[in-house]
Amino acid sequence: MTTDATEAVFEVYDERFRAMVPDDAQIVRHHTGMDWAEGPVYFAEGDYVLWSDIPNDVILRYSDAEGVSVFRSPCGYTNGHYRDLEGRLLSCEHGGRRVSRTESDGTVVSLADNYEGKKLNSPNDLAVKSDGSIWFTDPPYGILSDRQGHKAESELGACYVFRLEPETGALEIVADDFDRPNGICFSPDESVLYVSDTGEPGHIRAFDVEDGRRLANGRVFAEVSPGKSDGFRADTDGNIFTSARDGIHVYSPQSELLGKILTPENAVANCCFGGPERNRLYIAADKSLYSVVLNAKGAQRP
Ligand code: MG
Repeated sequence: MTTDATEAVFEVYDERFRAMVPDDAQIVRHHTGMDWAEGPVYFAEGDYVLWSDIPNDVILRYSDAEGVSVFRSPCGYTNGHYRDLEGRLLSCEHGGRRVSRTESDGTVVSLADNYEGKKLNSPNDLAVKSDGSIWFTDPPYGILSDRQGHKAESELGACYVFRLEPETGALEIVADDFDRPNGICFSPDESVLYVSDTGEPGHIRAFDVEDGRRLANGRVFAEVSPGKSDGFRADTDGNIFTSARDGIHVYSPQSELLGKILTPENAVANCCFGGPERNRLYIAADKSLYSVVLNAKGAQRP
């Protein structure tokens, strides 16, 4: 069902990256024609990936066996996705201005849509910690216009990073000094949280996670260029695979740029690891969904 494959193009800056990329790697385009592809998430049961086409208000599904289909539309202009500890789909919804969960019977329930009575801006991306808490970013991209949601004023007047306990609904601010917080991901041992800022700073910051629930020692982790870091994932060694304008850039946990996976089209939004071996990187790149098989495995479970 793959549409076309071309030889993958890598830029190698470090021998550690050369070891991650097979000599004969192919980058495969699975689907194209979207307005803005975002938020891929992988389901090992069924070996498929879901992702958003935000302006078209649709979640799409791809598998090698069944190709591309519509998973849900309308979907509340979903952006980033993740899965909870039970494997249920979690979605950041621009339209609903909420984080939602899709139950096993397909019903969609709201987990958080306000902070102290004020509507969230438009949740963008999220990560689940091993204690079940959901950490998400809340920039204004879904309320700036009607293109990726519904134009509206911000009720919060700021863009926070939140921590949500889905069992109790308790929602707390864990970072309040971002312009437009966007991508978010834990290190494999959850000692570090990475959050990108696609506003004025345009970088990725790293924080120490204290007591499993507080952030400390915020520092700049990476200045991604060209473009900005919209979303990213960690491999099992803690390397960070982040979007950039020209593809995926790979950073070591020590902030070293190890190499780049260049995509055939610019403006990459996000990526996630998938495949039975967790070594297939799905890439949402502007109008298309790609994948490339690497010698690196994603840390995220399920
Ligand atoms: Mg994003």
